Amino acid sequence: MSTHPSEDRLATLRGPLAPEPCTARGITALTANPGCSRRAVLDAAGIDKATLAARLGRPARFGQSPFALARGRAFEALVKANGYAELIALVREKLGVPVEEAAVADLNEVGGSASPALRARETGHLLDRLAAGAEERLLLDHPVVPLEVAGRTALLEPDAVTHRVDGRFHVVEIKSFAVIDGRADPAKTAEAAKQAAVYVIALRRLLESLGHDPALVATEFLLVCPEDFSQRPVLARIDVRQEIEAIGFQLSRLRRADDLARALPADATLDLSLRSDGTPARTDAELAAGVGALESHYTPDCMGYCDLARHCRAEAVEQARPECLGGRVRDDLPGIDSTRTALRLIDTPGDGETLDPGHAEVVERLRAAARLYDSRRRPPGPRLPTASSETSPDAPAGRSAG
Ligand code: SF4
Repeated sequence: MSTHPSEDRLATLRGPLAPEPCTARGITALTANPGCSRRAVLDAAGIDKATLAARLGRPARFGQSPFALARGRAFEALVKANGYAELIALVREKLGVPVEEAAVADLNEVGGSASPALRARETGHLLDRLAAGAEERLLLDHPVVPLEVAGRTALLEPDAVTHRVDGRFHVVEIKSFAVIDGRADPAKTAEAAKQAAVYVIALRRLLESLGHDPALVATEFLLVCPEDFSQRPVLARIDVRQEIEAIGFQLSRLRRADDLARALPADATLDLSLRSDGTPARTDAELAAGVGALESHYTPDCMGYCDLARHCRAEAVEQARPECLGGRVRDDLPGIDSTRTALRLIDTPGDGETLDPGHAEVVERLRAAARLYDSRRRPPGPRLPTASSETSPDAPAGRSAG
């Protein structure tokens, strides 16, 4: 890895702990919110966000359970057992790969070393030869592929890549969620598709950098899951063109984490290490200050994919930021930094001449919404309120709420 000064800055922020590896799952989360500088720096510095969230007093309430992780590892081991027998059989039977081809390149280690950088070099060398037709392999097991993310190089590790389906490279993802009666959980399949799209983008960019046609990497990936309630694997081909386009676009929008880290105060820290006596090297208040120095971009969607979501939500609510009500509200209130400001603007007397001209259109919209809201809350005439016209517990609180 490089020792660029900006990397030193990220390493200083992290302290003595080794960086958390960057994964395809992490990249899909990052690209889901490309405007969030906080997440970009935390990911680039390799901070353990689950531990950080716990230190900030708001631990994440999601994440893969240890049981699910163990089940996933066991299923992958089964699929690859006995010289990858199950995987090779699937590729042969379902995709018509010639029976005699079964050469596998095991890239879990290179010369006894599991160094990701070394494995990435070996992967690049092998892909170059395969793309040039100088070598044949049915499968590459756990290749390591680089991808530039927010100005940093992430080393990604697909479960496998096969080179012999329709003359193209195909990403293979092995997942332990079941396919029941030919159907898999749509949310889990969508998440697997996004991760596969990240691998496809990385492989295409690598091949291009080696002087080969990036279209040699297929835009569909091979998903291997257990069938029904057995451990018998089944294979499906899934097109990820849409995901490739969306994630590729979001990757291009990410700001460089180096630049963001350099702008932090000199004493900012995200150091989660422990001293030899087991006490934290940095106090929770120091960590909160470090996190607070990084601009966040909270939306309710963060709750579905980011360990820091509960912390960022509490911060957004405390500051009455419009985004805590959702991306739609934030987009409808450009230039308005808090819901308190929005409420004040509604009640500002006058025809708008006294207002910031940039806010006039927003204020007009807010007042129209307020008029509509008031008319719904106070029906005209002597009609008594009915149960259906009363404010439901889920309705927004009155206008005095910040
Ligand atoms: S939860 Fe916070 S750090 Fe994570 S993406 Fe959302 S705003 Fe950024």
